[in-house]
Amino acid sequence: MNFFGFTLRKLRDKFAELDENPAKADIVYRGVYKDVARGFGGFGFAERTAVRLAELFSFELPEVVEKRESADAAKLLLKLKDGEFVETVLMRQCFGNCVCVSTQVGCNMGCKFCQSGQMKKRRNLDVDEIVGQVVAISREFSCKIDGVSVMGIGEPFDNFQNVADFISIMSEDKGLAIGRRHVTVSTCGIVPRIYEYAELEEPCSLAISLHAPNDDLRTSLMPINKKYPISEVLKAAEYYTQRTCHRVALEYILLDNVNDFDECAVQLAGLIGGRDFYVNLIPYNSTDVDFCKPDADKLANFCKILKEHGVIATKRREFGADLKAACGQLRADYGKDD
Ligand code: SF4
Repeated sequence: MNFFGFTLRKLRDKFAELDENPAKADIVYRGVYKDVARGFGGFGFAERTAVRLAELFSFELPEVVEKRESADAAKLLLKLKDGEFVETVLMRQCFGNCVCVSTQVGCNMGCKFCQSGQMKKRRNLDVDEIVGQVVAISREFSCKIDGVSVMGIGEPFDNFQNVADFISIMSEDKGLAIGRRHVTVSTCGIVPRIYEYAELEEPCSLAISLHAPNDDLRTSLMPINKKYPISEVLKAAEYYTQRTCHRVALEYILLDNVNDFDECAVQLAGLIGGRDFYVNLIPYNSTDVDFCKPDADKLANFCKILKEHGVIATKRREFGADLKAACGQLRADYGKDD
């Protein structure tokens, strides 16, 4: 059993099952996540108990096989226990350090602009493998983590329960204690899971990868739109907002001469129609696939039109293009796909 796969509640249950005091779970949890303890020593366990627990639990993290760093970002390529690779990015934001984690090896959603979408899903990541990315990057760069985005390789809601446990671990007060508004799960729009996410005891923030203002264009970029068209996705997002009082971010990657026309901005504003969403504009981070990044003027113009139509819109800072920071790029260099 890997320690990093346990929410606090599950760890208490496990301790009870092992005839250990469940309250001790809280102390160990705090020690590992806040004080970087690496085992069961130093928590007042009898020696025999500490040995027994150490035999049952491992504290193993994914192995760092490559590390890149620039002024505002860092990236790790991590090797998992079965030899698969995932990547994790650290972004140094104005509010603090934010980690972007992967949730699957590959992805089946097939978004046309995404390098990860070119690699079929091999498997879901276990909870400890998702948590392990955050712990590994924090230890590797000796930094406190203030925010987490579930936006790396994989569709998080295609690995729902593990992602739900992951966000519970991230926001646990006795652990990393990252504020729920700073833990964001980004989905390409799997509608039933958006409703399920809204019903979680402690849902965190939600981002929807929209990337187009109409169904024809979105379907051409994101095949999932055939199953869950824009109107259904936004209806689910609205439900989430009402249920949680969290505003939803609509992610919009600007692709040159594809979805960056003035009329796209007008159409997007019409779709939002006064609902409590905001738009996060992301300049495309060019990869091998067939799209280009629009110039800065087009990006600014798109943002201006949205604002003129009463939409809250922000431009996402670009991080680490020189690190191959777009999802899937570093891993792709390792040529793991058949
Ligand atoms: S953008 Fe996200 S959901 Fe789409 S293929 Fe890439 S990893 Fe999968």
